[in-house]
Amino acid sequence: MTRLFYTFFLIAVLGVIGFATALFWRMENTSPPLKYDEFLTSLENNEVAEVHLKGGNISLTDIYGREFSTFSPDVGELMGKLSKKKIAITAEENHPSPFWTLLTVTLPIAIILIGGLVLMQTQRRREAEEEQKFAKNKVIRFDGNNKPITFDDVAGIPEAKEELKEIVNFLKEPKKFSRLGASLPKGVLLQGPPGTGKTLLAKAIAGEAGVPFYSFSGSDFVEMFVGVGASRVRDLFREAKKNTPCIVFIDEIDAVGAHRNATGSVGGQDERGQTLNALLVEMDGFSRDDTIIVLAATNRPDILDPALRRPGRFDRQITILPPDVKGRLNIIQVHSKRVTISERVDLAEIAKNTPGFTGAELANLVNEAALIAARENKEAIEAKDFNEAKDRILIGIERKGFVISKDDRRTMAYHEAGHAIVTRHLPGADPIQKITIIPRGRAMGHTLQQTLVDRQAYTKEYLQDRITILMGGRAAEKIGLNQQTTGAEDDLLRATQIATKMVCQWGMNEIIGPLAYAKSDEGFLGDQANQLIYSETTARHIDMEVRKLVEDCYQRAYAILQQEKAFLTHLAETLLQTETLDREEMEIIFECSQKKQAAEATEPSEEDIHQCMACPTGNQCPHLP
Ligand code: ADP
Ligand code: MG
Ligand code: ZN
Repeated sequence: MTRLFYTFFLIAVLGVIGFATALFWRMENTSPPLKYDEFLTSLENNEVAEVHLKGGNISLTDIYGREFSTFSPDVGELMGKLSKKKIAITAEENHPSPFWTLLTVTLPIAIILIGGLVLMQTQRRREAEEEQKFAKNKVIRFDGNNKPITFDDVAGIPEAKEELKEIVNFLKEPKKFSRLGASLPKGVLLQGPPGTGKTLLAKAIAGEAGVPFYSFSGSDFVEMFVGVGASRVRDLFREAKKNTPCIVFIDEIDAVGAHRNATGSVGGQDERGQTLNALLVEMDGFSRDDTIIVLAATNRPDILDPALRRPGRFDRQITILPPDVKGRLNIIQVHSKRVTISERVDLAEIAKNTPGFTGAELANLVNEAALIAARENKEAIEAKDFNEAKDRILIGIERKGFVISKDDRRTMAYHEAGHAIVTRHLPGADPIQKITIIPRGRAMGHTLQQTLVDRQAYTKEYLQDRITILMGGRAAEKIGLNQQTTGAEDDLLRATQIATKMVCQWGMNEIIGPLAYAKSDEGFLGDQANQLIYSETTARHIDMEVRKLVEDCYQRAYAILQQEKAFLTHLAETLLQTETLDREEMEIIFECSQKKQAAEATEPSEEDIHQCMACPTGNQCPHLP
């Protein structure tokens, strides 16, 4: 590209130099100059034979036949003198010749035009060459040398795997299916949240099917120039048709397949529409006997143009969701093959403790754990490394160098102790796993609950408990330190969100009744349900009920903590010392504080003090006398 510009620049410079030289030469190509007074003198001396006037320019020939040129400031006066001497005069108007005029105007334009044309031609030729290579370059063939990804590398999503295996079988033995007149879908759309293994699954098919596999990303078709994307799509299918049976894979298809008003962008809209149209046309253009299967993946099925889902295009849709416990265990096992894990580690336990993790996050978990173990020069990865890795993924990296003021630490300790005590107090809540005031990532402190089961449906009571637990942080700060801080921001937001959904979406409020007023979350599988219209009165009721719900929960948390105030103080002060506590340690502190309370009534006995020594803070326990 730069070379092209350079060439163009060179042409332009040469042209300008040539032009300037021509002009200069023309100007120079006149007779030698003569001063005007010298001219007048020779006129007086009768040495001038002939004069030629052109505007103010004077060319003259003297009696010896020499030619000179000069310039007259006052032609009128000169004419008088000349006619007195009876000298032959010829004159012409001072206009440059039409040829030169034309040249002056056209030459620069011509230079620019020719240069630009050359530039464009070269560019176009190069682009054409690239386009031709575009589709060819994207084909993946496995020839046995490189180890392909297989279905064994994909775990935890058995249903999706089965469906795709069927398609691979079809490509391997098309006769078996066509014998009975069956035809497999033309297009298969893999949809699901990021990291669930869609791309991985597609790669596995490439490895298993043993047919050419064209792999693209949606963004390959999004170019600055209108029409490029569309022509690439046509190229791609032309190439694919030459190599049937084959698979065409378009990852992140939402880059081209978004319906027109989904992406509020102004430019590029036309281009995207054209590319999408080309894709639709091409998919209609090959028949089912062509044995081309178009595979596509997206995280955003909700924004896809509905035309893509029409029968005959992506008529088979496979939804991949984050794995359940069993799936998580399988995925961890797949990724554990590459690392050394201590025999004492219970992978099932890790799977149980990672609800909501996607395949990508689990792969990351195993890798992080391996990194942590390697840093400590361990022989194998221990359970502790997995825990550390999980914290790191969930809450970010431990901020070791981060200095927090004493007051902030105390606030955090009370806040987290509040969450923990409320959790402990509510029988239906998920048990505490860990409380910490070590800041990680964005979160300051953190109280981790162990999720026992993957829940699909939540009861009203469970949700109320959740809000109560969230309120526990703020209530504890109020009771223990008599303050309100910004630390509760996240808790309040989440509590309000849950409460709003309970009232507006899940029909869990008597006054609003079993009606759904808000559309569900945008994002994955978020349907474009219309926002229901509700009256002012209903709106006011919703506001009131949400507030009442959250406030009731706050009062409940407050009451619990008020009742357990001694425990709260003890737990918070211990947290300040140890920074992290697990469930067992929390229980010891609970007993310790019970003893302490009993002791306050009477004198503490030797044994009480001994008991208190068992508390993790040891003799630093602030309640020891
Ligand atoms: P997606 O395309 O759905 O966003 P990827 O397929 O790119 O996700 O997954 C990223 C990585 O996560 C994969 O390379 C793989 O290591 C891991 N992974 C995701 N899902 C699975 C799974 N089901 N089984 C094994 N590994 C998985
Ligand atoms: Mg992907
Ligand atoms: Zn909190």
